[in-house]
Amino acid sequence: MRLKDKVALVTGAGNGIGRETALLFAQEGAAVVAVDLDEAAVGEVVAGIVASSGKAIAVAADVSSAAACERMVAAAEGEFGRLDVLFNNAGIMMSADGDAVSTEEDVWDKTMAVNAKGVYLGCKYGIPAMLRSGGGSIINTASFVAIVGAATPQLAYTASKGAVLALTRELAVVHAREGIRVNALCPGPLRTELLMSFLDTEEKRQRRLVHVPMGRFGEAREMAEAALYLASDESSYVTGTEFLVDGGLTAAYVTPE
Ligand code: NAD
Repeated sequence: MRLKDKVALVTGAGNGIGRETALLFAQEGAAVVAVDLDEAAVGEVVAGIVASSGKAIAVAADVSSAAACERMVAAAEGEFGRLDVLFNNAGIMMSADGDAVSTEEDVWDKTMAVNAKGVYLGCKYGIPAMLRSGGGSIINTASFVAIVGAATPQLAYTASKGAVLALTRELAVVHAREGIRVNALCPGPLRTELLMSFLDTEEKRQRRLVHVPMGRFGEAREMAEAALYLASDESSYVTGTEFLVDGGLTAAYVTPE
């Protein structure tokens, strides 16, 4: 088991990447603190883990709230005594997000609050807990859109993920000698609710797939496998990276027909 005796906190654990990661981490021996705004969804994930003899608790929390982030970390230490892995994964993509001219301030502010401030707050409360545990691994979910520009803009989302990359690098450097590794996971386009509700017609989906050399959307489970590597001691010399799991998207200039 690759996460035996570790305690892992996963945000956005009710659906998509976070859900698959919570399930996989538990299978690999971690005690999981599954956090989500959606209490019912995260409760279901935890019930599934417990039914398969795994260890997990659900915490309903909004990662853009400092008090909620403090509470989720306190729940990890209160229930399981430590924190070894922090997966800051919760994120939103708003349908009214467009270019600079069309994006309203409230869309910008909300997107930044969840996607960027949420990662900072997870680290603000998670890092002291990790130091008390003797170190650990932080994984922040960014996106391929922080690396390459898209002609179909989602400016606030893209900027928020750029912030995640920048703060990941700096935290990696600051905490490297304290035994805390910090990496960003950069997924390509995935077949999860978040993207499929945005690409809501076959035509839009095909337009996105034109850019993916592998010619398909990624699966949440494939991101969970990457997060598992970054969480485990197998990645013990890996910190400050932009870990791309994108079907070759960012490597491509022209993709095959
Ligand atoms: P998803 O919508 O399937 O799941 C996201 C989960 O986060 C949901 O359960 C939602 O309830 C929860 N959540 C949203 N706001 C929250 C908040 N304020 N506090 C706590 N929980 C909150 O999405 P997903 O595709 O699994 O995305 C997970 C992460 O991956 C996000 O950060 C997203 O930006 C990123 N990402 C997704 C894709 C993609 O194509 N789906 C690509 C690149 C990056």
